[in-house]
Amino acid sequence: MNIVAPYIERTSRTIRQLDAAAANRIAAGEVVERPASAVKELVENALDAGATRIDVVYAAGGKGLIRVTDNGHGIPAEQLGLALSRHATSKIDGHDLTNILTFGFRGEALPSLGAVGTLTLTSRAAGSDAAAVVRVRGGDAAPVRPAALSEGTVVELEGLFSATPARLKFLRTDRAEAQAISDVMKRLAMSSPAVAFTLADVSDRNNPRQVLRYDAQSGDLFDGLRGRLSAILGPGFVENALQIDAERDGVRLAGFAALPTFSRGAAVAQYLFVNGRPVRDRLLHGALRAAYGDVLSRDRHPVAALFVDCPPEQVDVNVHPAKAEVRFRESGVVRGLVVSSLKHALAAAGHRGATTTGTGMLGAFRPNIEPTGPIQSVGWTSRRPGGVPSATALLENAEMWSARVEQPVVTEGAQDPEKEAESFPLGVARAQIHQNYLVAQTDDGLVIVDQHAAHERLVYERLKAERARSGVASQLLLIPEIVELDSGACCRLLDAASDLAELGLVFEPFGGNALCLRETPAILGEVDGRALLADIADALEEGTGQGGLAARIDAVLSRMACHGSVRSGRRMSGPEMNALLREMEATPLSGQCNHGRPTYVELKLTDIERLFGRR
Ligand code: ADP
Ligand code: MG
Repeated sequence: MNIVAPYIERTSRTIRQLDAAAANRIAAGEVVERPASAVKELVENALDAGATRIDVVYAAGGKGLIRVTDNGHGIPAEQLGLALSRHATSKIDGHDLTNILTFGFRGEALPSLGAVGTLTLTSRAAGSDAAAVVRVRGGDAAPVRPAALSEGTVVELEGLFSATPARLKFLRTDRAEAQAISDVMKRLAMSSPAVAFTLADVSDRNNPRQVLRYDAQSGDLFDGLRGRLSAILGPGFVENALQIDAERDGVRLAGFAALPTFSRGAAVAQYLFVNGRPVRDRLLHGALRAAYGDVLSRDRHPVAALFVDCPPEQVDVNVHPAKAEVRFRESGVVRGLVVSSLKHALAAAGHRGATTTGTGMLGAFRPNIEPTGPIQSVGWTSRRPGGVPSATALLENAEMWSARVEQPVVTEGAQDPEKEAESFPLGVARAQIHQNYLVAQTDDGLVIVDQHAAHERLVYERLKAERARSGVASQLLLIPEIVELDSGACCRLLDAASDLAELGLVFEPFGGNALCLRETPAILGEVDGRALLADIADALEEGTGQGGLAARIDAVLSRMACHGSVRSGRRMSGPEMNALLREMEATPLSGQCNHGRPTYVELKLTDIERLFGRR
């Protein structure tokens, strides 16, 4: 049985040339994914036109209105119509696609936008004494008419996607679309520090709201960048960043890379540019990660704004519809340059992390379970003596435990309590060293536990279990905490508010970019509300585009767990340490932390003997 044939028969087999409007709508599907992509195309056009000031306004997240005003060289009246037709561009002559120095070159943006909304293009060419306007709606252009405008170009786009309702349905909330617009603006503003930018939300006509304002920066490349990056990322970034300026084989790398201590919980603050073009490039992101490999743990992500400049023929910018990706001819050179110059700068800054690898010692220590598999050792879950409080409970109420508390891990009536405890898989705690590691003696060796990593895992598993049962229990804050965040973080959190409430995190908008935090997951105890919300916002961003919050819940819970965990540096009493060991034994997957690192390592007596040459 052929179930495909009936469908084929229903469609005609005659080949037809689609009309211009249909072709433009199809092209728009690639070029203009959401309002932010329209803003990107229009601002890039303004930059290509040599503008030194660019003002952008939007309404209803850009779905209602987008208007970009620039003071660039403008378009002569007789060419306005041409600017709106497909594959019409002033930027290349078509003979050499390897020498592209402008953002645009395909001549697709304006006709695409005119096909999916109402586009009004008003412009006055430099040196001309009059301006002209042309309007195109759903692909139909009206005749060019005279207009009033003192300089530059104004492009107004109304009812974006009104001609393509299917696309409209895929857009997110106004707030999320507005956020994407401001992200696009920030990236473009970083690459052009000498240009002044403003962004305003005019959804409420009587009360326009300025969203961004970046004044033109003067001075050399680094002065300009420093000023602009401070304005966009806050002064903390440049203060905590290393200036990078390196060159190899005609490729230059310039910009700022933050110290490892200034890292983030997700790869959300990595701004990369190739010949001034903002890109999300796997090669460059990978190189950045590799450069920090020694000095950052796997769950932390470097913050950087880096500009790669190379001769245009070394890079193909025509590999992605929105030109967000590029392909390097000599990718090895670029990667090598990024890795080596950043490593060098980090080492020179004296922040290279101490590492024990290479001493040969570490090989002897090993977690006694595979870090990826669940714990399967027999007896691990059944041996917790009755009446022992869980480690989490103990740690939540650490003050409750004074030196007089009897060691709770000891089974009552045991002949030799210590021997008995040693027969537990993780042994009996002997000491805490460097206020972060517990050393425990087992019956045939010793175990070193990373107290923070271990506890984090326990809290995470508990959160998951609570969620699966009845929802995560929350506790009301006595005094609600007002937390100020950047607008992106704020917006992501508010979008996920109802889902987060089920995870025990309750907050509401508090005007501007502030949230009022009312409840936190009870299991976390006292937390730093700001840090918790900021990290969860990062987790949400990392998962954007991978389905709803459901798909990201584990990431969110993992972040929560991190906040509820015993910090490294906290002194633990004997009972606390032993309770932690016992709960680890009883918890599946406790051999690895939420980030895949081991929570403990074990050294067998035979290994120790080998180390001392006794075997
Ligand atoms: P592209 O940027 O790929 O050339 P567009 O469709 O974005 O294609 O624009 C078509 C042409 O219209 C550009 O090549 C340019 O000549 C002109 N143009 C568009 N926007 C502006 C602007 N803001 N200022 C001056 N000229 C513009
Ligand atoms: Mg363009």
